[in-house]
Amino acid sequence: MAHPRRSSPADDETGSAELAGRRREYDEDDVRVRPGRSSRPRTRTRPRHSDAVDGFVIAVDRGRYTCVIEDAPTTGGSRERDGSREQGGSGSGSGTVTAMRARELGRKSVVVGDRVALVGDTSGAAGALARIVRIAERTSVLRRTADDDETTAEGRLERVVVANADQLVIVSSLADPPPRTGFIDRCLVAAYDADIEPLLCLTKADLAPPGGVLGYYAELDLPHVLVEPGSDLDELRGLLAERLSVLVGHSGVGKSTLVNRLVPAAERAVGTVSAIGRGRHTSTSAVALRLPALDGGGRRRHPGWIVDTPGVRSFGLAHVSAESLLHGFPDLVEGTVECPPNCEHTPDEADCALDAWVAAGNADPRRLASYRRLLASRAGETD
Ligand code: ZN
Repeated sequence: MAHPRRSSPADDETGSAELAGRRREYDEDDVRVRPGRSSRPRTRTRPRHSDAVDGFVIAVDRGRYTCVIEDAPTTGGSRERDGSREQGGSGSGSGTVTAMRARELGRKSVVVGDRVALVGDTSGAAGALARIVRIAERTSVLRRTADDDETTAEGRLERVVVANADQLVIVSSLADPPPRTGFIDRCLVAAYDADIEPLLCLTKADLAPPGGVLGYYAELDLPHVLVEPGSDLDELRGLLAERLSVLVGHSGVGKSTLVNRLVPAAERAVGTVSAIGRGRHTSTSAVALRLPALDGGGRRRHPGWIVDTPGVRSFGLAHVSAESLLHGFPDLVEGTVECPPNCEHTPDEADCALDAWVAAGNADPRRLASYRRLLASRAGETD
């Protein structure tokens, strides 16, 4: 491995700069030149992409990107006919297009949730391949540090899980298995770090009351929703409407069941999306699924999108600074005001004010313990 990897933040920087003048014509200056790659000057006139159409990336698989053409009638196409969606009536793939990255994107990555500009064959017909020529500036970037087994010689890789998410839905069961607040805390840090709103979705509410978990988060303004096998999902659907929500959760908490209830298999018979669960589409990829149209009065609201993240078992937080980590614990922030300068808030800091803060009853001692576990785990990454 001779050539060093450029760090992804740098990629993001250049990407944003490139997109700053989105209305500007695309020209040679926008093309990133990779020194050493080719000494041949680029003289070919590039297409201006004024004919590019807007797409939304819903799946990524080995260099192929499944996109939805945004102005296609994908939002249910709901004519007033008793809420029935067009089922397979709209020809090839209901607006999904398979695309590859255009070379002018350089090394900037394209991830699920990205809003992109597409040129080429955007018909969506079998075998048709479009090109992604632009990536819109992201409103949010949900990251995780890669797991240990993905560590390279250069250290931990930072992975972008989803772009442009509005909400992180943390799915946790109330029993069987019992809630793991360490995992929830970790997700909260990731959400706050990405500036995405968290939503705690507590499943198996028929097996245990939510009091314990909710009490643990009493100091936080953390919205929650309860789900049990027989319950309707209206409240949850309401919270998902008009947003791009990422669902995370450990296996066994009922996340897959929830995804299947929210988006029944019949609703997924669209393009590549139907490939999830078929093996080849690796279980580690995130996939965006459009929610079915809302019933009744919600007809005019977009039902929203959910992103399932089957492969995300934990949120490695090595990329989050100690200071940002604290943002996941708003109940502790005020307690650090009395800390000495540059306090690392670890148990080794004799003068850390957090111990007194908790002792005085200002926050749950378990929250401080959890914060310190996360602080310590950023080196080792276990919880
Ligand atoms: Zn401190």
